[in-house]
Amino acid sequence: MPYETDPPAFDGRYSDGKTAAAYNVRVGFSPRGLLIRGHNAADDLIWPYGALATAEPISSHAVDALVSYRHQPGASLFVPNGTFARQLAEAAPHLTTRAARRRAATPWLWTAAAVLVLVAGVFALQLSPARAIAGLMPDGLRNSLGNQTLRSMTSGKKVCETPAGRRAVENLAARLATGVPGETTFEITVVDWGLINAFATPGNKIVLTRGLIEKAGSADEIAGVLAHEMGHGIEMHPETSIVRAIGLSAAVELLMGGGGGTVGNIGVMLAQLSYSRQAEAEADDVALKLMRDAGIATDGLTDFFKRMNKLERSGDGDSNRTFDVLRSHPQTADRIRRISAQEKYPSKPALKPADWRALKTICAVPD
Ligand SMILES: [Zn+2]
Repeated sequence: MPYETDPPAFDGRYSDGKTAAAYNVRVGFSPRGLLIRGHNAADDLIWPYGALATAEPISSHAVDALVSYRHQPGASLFVPNGTFARQLAEAAPHLTTRAARRRAATPWLWTAAAVLVLVAGVFALQLSPARAIAGLMPDGLRNSLGNQTLRSMTSGKKVCETPAGRRAVENLAARLATGVPGETTFEITVVDWGLINAFATPGNKIVLTRGLIEKAGSADEIAGVLAHEMGHGIEMHPETSIVRAIGLSAAVELLMGGGGGTVGNIGVMLAQLSYSRQAEAEADDVALKLMRDAGIATDGLTDFFKRMNKLERSGDGDSNRTFDVLRSHPQTADRIRRISAQEKYPSKPALKPADWRALKTICAVPD
């Protein structure tokens, strides 16, 4: 639009908001903003268009406009002129009725967009709707769900932490992370818990238990279990389980920032869920790739399966029923076969002997 600054074309009434007085002014459109001229040009005011507001949205048949300016609270400008109102709508489109309607519709647009992405994702990638919604979760939400799950699954248990043990855990995680796509990092916690267990929570958090570390015959076994849990994380299985558990509509609500009340029990809920066989197979596949990329032999993982299998058969393993890696128990033999069938590659132990010793004693009480 052509800007006419000299002379300003419209008559208006201006009030600075500090006194009740209003002044006759001339108003025009300058490239920098609305130009308001009182007695002389030296006192010109410029109100940038982006910071303007109007008493009501400007419609196409407005006959006047009452304008305020964000950076000068209380000040107002009234211009009783339809042409002015239309030019103002052109210079500051956010003031129009159309923009107001769009703003009002925004939350609905978001929902519609989420649903669209979802449907497209489901068809394009043959994902389940739950998996697609899980993929839409922002990191903040995944993290807070993860922290809640951690809290409810480890409540009353001590976190094991010695400096050397922590270094060993970080070294192991870093080696496996070679093959992890993108910027994904994992937060690993060891808890003082006799049960042999390992699990992944939303937000790429993984818990390993003292029982698991004590029973493992080598660092390679722990590497295999950790890689499997990373596989669950990368495939977003914990997030997907939550969506499935609370239902799609509640999950969309959670995504939209609502449903805060539902979140409270999710940790408890996830603690009781188990993954499908397909999810376990996916996690195994990722684990095999991570171990290959890290140059860690897969024998550790099969050794671990075999030993757990024996434990369970001997009746000593009742308490292992909740152990993630064994959840698809009847298939354990198949899984061992599948892992053993992998082509061999050059490998090095997952941890140096000193690191492995440090990991073994990470739950020991310091002298
Ligand atoms: Zn698993």
